[in-house]
Amino acid sequence: MTDPRQRVAEFLKWQNAASPFFLPKELLVKRSAPAVPSAFTAPTIPTQSGDPESAMALLARETAGCMKCPLGETRTKLVFGVGDVRARLMFIGEGPGEEEDLQGIPFVGRAGQLLTKIIENGLKIPRESVYIANIVKCRPPKNRAPFKEEADACIGYLKSQIAVVRPEAIVLLGKTAMQHLLGLDLKIGDARERSFEFDGIRVFVTYHPSALLRNPDYKRPTWEDMKKVMTFLGLPVEG
Ligand code: SF4
Repeated sequence: MTDPRQRVAEFLKWQNAASPFFLPKELLVKRSAPAVPSAFTAPTIPTQSGDPESAMALLARETAGCMKCPLGETRTKLVFGVGDVRARLMFIGEGPGEEEDLQGIPFVGRAGQLLTKIIENGLKIPRESVYIANIVKCRPPKNRAPFKEEADACIGYLKSQIAVVRPEAIVLLGKTAMQHLLGLDLKIGDARERSFEFDGIRVFVTYHPSALLRNPDYKRPTWEDMKKVMTFLGLPVEG
């Protein structure tokens, strides 16, 4: 059997050459069965069993040590992503901040603690039950927004993560996440009123938690957005 790491490398090489949504349905890893054989010549995300845990672990190993853009030179730790690889809901932010860069875990600084509160106190589900990732996996210096070239270099990893998790809904946190995943340049105030899809997955747009820390007026609309997400997922909504 081909070495799994080599097969991941082949997959990522093929994926980076494809656009905009890399994974045809036929190539998606199935949750309860091995990947469906395909007429495509491109390899599937390779796993021994076809399960998303193995697929994500292989992807994480392939991402480790990445130097595809200059952010790799200044990072402390690469921040791959965290959470349930079978999650119904995925949160996507912009990029790691200082604390995330030190710990190698997304959304663990002040903004991350607020996101955890939104998930656990608002949606009333454990943080571990969702999947959390960023547009770029290495910290941009001084927490600036990632440049387009950096996001372009990195976003294939995120799209692979989405393909592995196949959540029912994605919440994009802030304008940078929206710009790079959906290719839209809208104000968040306008985008949050609209409905989007990414590769057949329902996408909600709301404010980044760091914006809520700067401006508490965003808390109310963010809660309204979370209620829409809860309704979509069939979670009980209070208040
Ligand atoms: S930001 Fe992404 S593309 Fe750039 S070095 Fe880090 S992992 Fe690689």
